[in-house]
Amino acid sequence: MTAMLTRKGIGVSPGVAIAPAVVLDAADQPIQRRHVPHSGVGNELRRLDAAIEASKNEIEDLRQQTATALGDDVGRIFAFHIGMLGDPDLIGSVTDQIRGDRVSAEYATYVALRRRAQSFDAHESPLVRKMVSDIWDLERRLLRHLVGEARSEVNQLNQPSVVIARDLTPSQTAGLDRTKVKALVIDLGGRTSHTAILAHALGIPAVVGLGSLSREVESGQQIVVDGTRGTVIIEPDGAKLLEYRQEARRFRDLVGRLDELRDKPAETKNGEKVNLLANIEFSSEIEEAVGNGAEGVGLYRTEFLFLAADHEPTEEEQYEAYVEVLNRLGKDLPLTIRTLDLGADKVAMDGPSAFANYERNPFLGCRSIRLCLQNLPLFKTQLRAILRASAHGQMRIMFPLISHIMELRQARMVLQDVMEDLEDQGIPFDRDVPIGMMVEVPSAALQAATFAKEVDFFSIGTNDLVQYTVAVDRSNERIASLYSAAHPAVLKLIKEVVRAAQREQIGVSLCGEMASEPEFTMLLVGLGLRWFSMTPPAIPEVKQIIRSVSTDQCRRLARRVSGLDTDREVLNLLREELRKVMPSAVDGRSVVA
Ligand code: PEP
Ligand code: MG
Repeated sequence: MTAMLTRKGIGVSPGVAIAPAVVLDAADQPIQRRHVPHSGVGNELRRLDAAIEASKNEIEDLRQQTATALGDDVGRIFAFHIGMLGDPDLIGSVTDQIRGDRVSAEYATYVALRRRAQSFDAHESPLVRKMVSDIWDLERRLLRHLVGEARSEVNQLNQPSVVIARDLTPSQTAGLDRTKVKALVIDLGGRTSHTAILAHALGIPAVVGLGSLSREVESGQQIVVDGTRGTVIIEPDGAKLLEYRQEARRFRDLVGRLDELRDKPAETKNGEKVNLLANIEFSSEIEEAVGNGAEGVGLYRTEFLFLAADHEPTEEEQYEAYVEVLNRLGKDLPLTIRTLDLGADKVAMDGPSAFANYERNPFLGCRSIRLCLQNLPLFKTQLRAILRASAHGQMRIMFPLISHIMELRQARMVLQDVMEDLEDQGIPFDRDVPIGMMVEVPSAALQAATFAKEVDFFSIGTNDLVQYTVAVDRSNERIASLYSAAHPAVLKLIKEVVRAAQREQIGVSLCGEMASEPEFTMLLVGLGLRWFSMTPPAIPEVKQIIRSVSTDQCRRLARRVSGLDTDREVLNLLREELRKVMPSAVDGRSVVA
């Protein structure tokens, strides 16, 4: 029996899950433990032999081709692969497991090669450690022969599982089967990586930033995931299991209690209204958002429509999707639709080339509004679909990643053009649709007073604002501790943006993950924010805090925070104050670093 192992990462979606692991290999192939009957063992051994034979032939061909083209020395690198395939220790451990545990050939191969890679990885000689990638290569080759070319997707799981992967793209995360995926454990990523945001929106407990855990765990091992505290336990002992089963029950009770808040207003003790809206990626999230008490959608990330499709959605497809969101939301609730924010980590792996281009510095690259302004047909098609949909409900449009006033003006001009075309064609749309922008780049925040004269509303995107202010990639786990919304420089920028909006009397909301983190609720209310947009599962807890405080109390807290120099001091003070009004929101939560 393997010893219990505990690992700490970044908890990005709360909740507790206990289930067997399914580890995705580098080609995202979930290899699950499959038992075979006694009578099937011979067949598995034959399949293994055939896969070894086919791999040997392939590698021999490769060796010859490489030797002819590049010389014998280079060709010799394949000798290691061929040697491994003939290694009696390695192959013996695969056949022993097939016979002894009666498991499929692919599962036994996967386990044996994984163990071999782990022992190479821990070796003191750098030369041996370098061979690890050859072992992964060999694993992929053998598995391809055993399970075929068809990439089985993560959503073909046959039982409730904890999915463990080096990385998952946002579109893979969006495609997860919620009935089977009980939790996500990811080596890479930070608190506001889009995979993390999606996991939260889908209500799947998730921990990211775990280094190389996906290489240390094997499919089938029992895993506990505590997405609230950011803890992952592999092969928990009896006492830990019991503790976490109780914890899972407590979490369900808490969610149940917060549900009761749904129909109560989000109002401070002195009767000031705060508006809580939802961030969504797909129309299917609306029912849950409204069920959690959302009073509209403050951020609809339309790029996911593009990421989930295998082609660029047509105007008609987009129009239908947007109308669907409006219909599900109903006439009384507003929808803030954000134009395409593709690029950086939101890229289609094999989608249209316009947004799959390689860039050296993607977060500073041709993403978002920049990409749209360089691809006018793509942009205009979306704007037409949005405007046509605006005839069906309460719509607001906003542009992402505005960093220069000229970008805003250009985007508005393109919108104006599209409006004129629609008018000429007699196609109905809302002529007075409010136009806003995301404030998520320091240049826009610093120039907020100027921007405020040219838009109807601001939405502060702290996920990007933090990364650009502190110069920390939001999805890089190695520097996650430097990524902090509590950084005094970030707080100063937020304060400036709110002030500029108030002076010009335009709307201002905050739609970054910061809006959903209970630590920040009082501070943001104290800074003057009355509109928040967040991942739907976070709404009840934030509402509970708002109902427990007065605006004076929040203003006093904001003043005290403005005198602090470090994010640590800010967080400590915010936690201390939150603990006084709602202890359950502080104790047991993971550290927001
Ligand atoms: C943000 O940057 O804060 C934001 C809400 O947008 P996204 O997370 O989609 O970049
Ligand atoms: Mg953003």
